[in-house]
Amino acid sequence: MWRASVLTLFPGMFPGPLGLSLAGDALARGVFSIETHDIREHGLGRHRAVDDAPAGGGPGMVLRADVLAAALDAVAPRSDARPRFLMSPRGARLTQALARDLAAGAGVVLVCGRFEGVDERVIEGRGLTEISIGDYILSGGEIAAMTLLDACVRLLPGVMGKAESGGDESFETGLLEYPHYTRPREWEGRAIPPVLLSGDHARVRAWRDAEALRLTRERRPDLVEDRAGASPGSPPQRPRG
Ligand code: SAH
Repeated sequence: MWRASVLTLFPGMFPGPLGLSLAGDALARGVFSIETHDIREHGLGRHRAVDDAPAGGGPGMVLRADVLAAALDAVAPRSDARPRFLMSPRGARLTQALARDLAAGAGVVLVCGRFEGVDERVIEGRGLTEISIGDYILSGGEIAAMTLLDACVRLLPGVMGKAESGGDESFETGLLEYPHYTRPREWEGRAIPPVLLSGDHARVRAWRDAEALRLTRERRPDLVEDRAGASPGSPPQRPRG
């Protein structure tokens, strides 16, 4: 079973959307598990304090290194080989390639930040890799963690309906996906492109490849350049967040 351990101040947010639809079915069938751990259980004193004022001054509060380390050590001792991530806007950007790598492993340990962030020393001291879901600021790491988990669990064997309904998708080929159509044949005066109704699989394939390339050039020229620049065996592109 692929195991996710999530450290959060809001365990009630999980499994959230991952408890529904395909992911929810897979969760119920035991294809993967999500264990949440409340960081506050390791908080200090009568009030179970987890944060304190930033050294050097400034607004907001910072998650304490000692509290977070105690939580991490309880959840994932050093013998736990799963990769450990801190959800963080400063991290490398989450990509489909990373989701594939992670889905092929044993699972992940995810730390959800809150407030201004976490004390730098626990990132270093517990070897956390910072990972971002994009260039914007969320109010906490939970939605980012769910995003990472969703991208991984849909790739686990037996989660998606059809095994092959993963390989064609945007980013899997290095390109954005071609347009989709379904019945009716004509809708508000717009017809399905005739080639898709021709029954000629080679022509359909060629049309889809051409459309994928056209759309990618139009919307994400950076992806086409990446492909042109990539030599066989070169590592996947992981833009910094
Ligand atoms: N002061 C920080 C932002 C803190 S936001 C800064 O300027 O970098 C609070 C928490 O939300 C972070 O600790 C992180 O866990 C989470 N978070 C916010 N934006 C995120 C993003 N784009 N990707 C992943 N996690 C994010």
